Amino acid sequence: MPYNWNGDYVPSKADRSTDILGQKEIGGVGQLIYHPFRYKDYILANDNEEYCAFPVCRPGYEPDFPSDDSVSGKGLLVSLCNLARQIDDWDNKIPYDQLIIQWCKENMHPYRIDFVYQELTEEGFDIKGHDAELAARDGIFSINDFMKDLEKLYTTALFYEALEGICVADEDAACSLYKEGKYFEGLPFFESFKNIHSMPDIDVSTAGGNLVKEMELYAEYQKSHPAKQPPDGQFEEEPYDNYWELLNKLIERTPDFNMCLKVNPKTNRIEFSADVNSVFDIAWFTLARMISEDPAPENKGLSNDDRSEGIMICCRHCGDFLIRRNGRQEYCDKPDCQKARNAKNQREFRRRKRIENAQKQKKNTPKT
Ligand SMILES: [Zn+2]
Repeated sequence: MPYNWNGDYVPSKADRSTDILGQKEIGGVGQLIYHPFRYKDYILANDNEEYCAFPVCRPGYEPDFPSDDSVSGKGLLVSLCNLARQIDDWDNKIPYDQLIIQWCKENMHPYRIDFVYQELTEEGFDIKGHDAELAARDGIFSINDFMKDLEKLYTTALFYEALEGICVADEDAACSLYKEGKYFEGLPFFESFKNIHSMPDIDVSTAGGNLVKEMELYAEYQKSHPAKQPPDGQFEEEPYDNYWELLNKLIERTPDFNMCLKVNPKTNRIEFSADVNSVFDIAWFTLARMISEDPAPENKGLSNDDRSEGIMICCRHCGDFLIRRNGRQEYCDKPDCQKARNAKNQREFRRRKRIENAQKQKKNTPKT
């Protein structure tokens, strides 16, 4: 409304140069406020034929409330992706329901977090009484739902890694994205680039110049000669040429977020915050923020590509997810992975030295 109460015209303060209101324009938007809590234990059982985790909430099993700092959005995103990796690993022998429960006990309760948090922190909450029964019942969640939510997050995170990779000409992750895990199916978005599309050179003289007949001949040829697959680890067509199409697929897979007012327990102030109800909402919101901080694709991999929030990468040695501390980090902190990093650095150092020496020798060779 460009008029004030007195009917005077008031010029708009909005920046007309952009129609996108980001965090910088509004300020404070994009806060992530949630209330972590952990049940001490869960019982796995059927609830109306749905296999569920039932929280235990009674004397001796009081839920605990980790400080907000110990449960960050990035930490949850990374640990959920690593949980999925472990569940999906063919070599893993621990049943996935056990791994999920273990994750919840170590990190936080996964669903209806704000609702149950309010019940647990209500004044006069009685762990011996009906309150505790309610708080336990409201925390019941389906293991199947958890697996479905986890699969979507995990496969999208892998897709994100693969997309980041192709921007810096590292296509390993993209090539192996479509693989069958133990429970989760990889996304097929890069598969079309592996096929050989070029038209074969065949004899179409029998068509007598009729274009439709020629196309039929080509179609017949292709039916009897299925597309050859290039060797593993290679693309026939450059996926980077289709970057925007791929990026749109990533955006489509990211859920929408509702915004609402929430009290920030750290400041006791009301803030405009994403409405998150599950750990998956938190993880998605964190991932979406990461994606929104991405530089333009042509600027990725440059020395100044140090995104302030840090992005999630997969360790080149063990494959675990981690938050990169700086633009050059490629390995996690595990001793074996650091060893692999040192070995690679040494190899590269020796290679550079060899090239240098070869060039020096070339210079010193007297010209004939
Ligand atoms: Zn590692």
